[in-house]
Amino acid sequence: MERNRSAEIFERRESAVRSYSRFCPIEFDRAEGALLFDRDGISYVDFLAGAGALNYGHNNPYIIERIAQYLRDGRILHGLDLFTTAKREFLEALEERVLGPASLDYRVQFCGPTGTNAVEAALKLARKATRRTGVVSFMGGFHGVTLGSLSVTSVRSFRDEIFPRVPGVTFLPFEKGFPESVDSIAYLEALLEDDHSGFDLPAAVIVETVQGEGGVYVASASWLRRLRDLCDRYEIVLVCDDIQVGCGRTGPFFSFERAGIRPDVVTLSKSLSGIGLPLSLVLVRPDLDCWDPGEHSGTFRGNQLAFVGAKAALEYRDAEDLATQVHANASNLEKWLSEAISELPEAELRGVGMIWGIDLVKYPDLAERVVAAALGKGLLVERSGRSQSVIKLLPPLDAPREILAKGCSILAEAIREEAKAAV
Ligand code: PLP
Repeated sequence: MERNRSAEIFERRESAVRSYSRFCPIEFDRAEGALLFDRDGISYVDFLAGAGALNYGHNNPYIIERIAQYLRDGRILHGLDLFTTAKREFLEALEERVLGPASLDYRVQFCGPTGTNAVEAALKLARKATRRTGVVSFMGGFHGVTLGSLSVTSVRSFRDEIFPRVPGVTFLPFEKGFPESVDSIAYLEALLEDDHSGFDLPAAVIVETVQGEGGVYVASASWLRRLRDLCDRYEIVLVCDDIQVGCGRTGPFFSFERAGIRPDVVTLSKSLSGIGLPLSLVLVRPDLDCWDPGEHSGTFRGNQLAFVGAKAALEYRDAEDLATQVHANASNLEKWLSEAISELPEAELRGVGMIWGIDLVKYPDLAERVVAAALGKGLLVERSGRSQSVIKLLPPLDAPREILAKGCSILAEAIREEAKAAV
């Protein structure tokens, strides 16, 4: 009775735009690691993990303790973009634990708190630095839903034609996905070389090394290196959007490290604060940092609690050797998920590190039914990709083996039952 009453206010008061709660209409109350608990204390394995914002699990005790201590000590909570101790300590940790070891030299721009704010800032900066307007993005790419980021986001369901776009965006096929046979790098090269192509030299190319929302397509290292090389030759700013698959999701801190490339600009958000607090930033090659002071501004540039969490997350990552844990967890996931789809010859498993997708496009509606059935059995997981046919798994990087095994076995059972029901 009480439960119905509380659900009713969401339906009555919350905007129609809500999305996750549509396939998962459960009121959650507590969370711990890779588990969520509803208000009745029923537990769910969480393979959604805040859509990639919870790489270290819910309420990671190491991170929580540092944030709680900061609050108890009455430290500064809002500081615009003033110098603060929390910001200094985060920047020092980023330098010592991430940039230095990877031999990367970037300026750090703090922008508004969400991923889309970082993408907006990155594209504006690339345009300012090059004095060009064009941007190349990839089919299947997702970069956010505000004006500038929506303009480089390909997913049609976000792109009502009434919403204005920033002009000058060209979409090319990603290395993988649809259509599979196009060599976009060669095509882009031809566009740039041909003085009759009608294509203007762009300011930037924006790319995800693994398309998450696009259906878990992993670009090969060689494709990424060719893209880097082409951008170098034409002095096009290469922006790597590492919002979903950065912060260690693929193993190394940055997802592009596996290709040995250095993007000119990197966007980071989601798991950066370590605990799900909003924090975004843009990493910029120092000579491209051509902003005038305050030219790209915002009240919430740098959430102090998120800085504390972000520093703690970097410490935790090193202390627990998460890169190695990702490696071990990834091979278990790959094995268990392959077994889960062994009866479905047309299903495809794709992924790297701790992002995996089961593509069920050849089995109409199956992905939707499996996700619903899995939820009924205690597993929270989402869909992505074309016609939402890919079951996307983003477990916390440090999820214990038993919880990963439990989540995979729930998923396997749901696939088995729903596939059988469809015959
Ligand atoms: N870029 C990528 C790769 C993303 O996956 C997302 C969100 O899923 C965004 C940008 C936008 O981030 P936000 O939803 O925080 O605005």
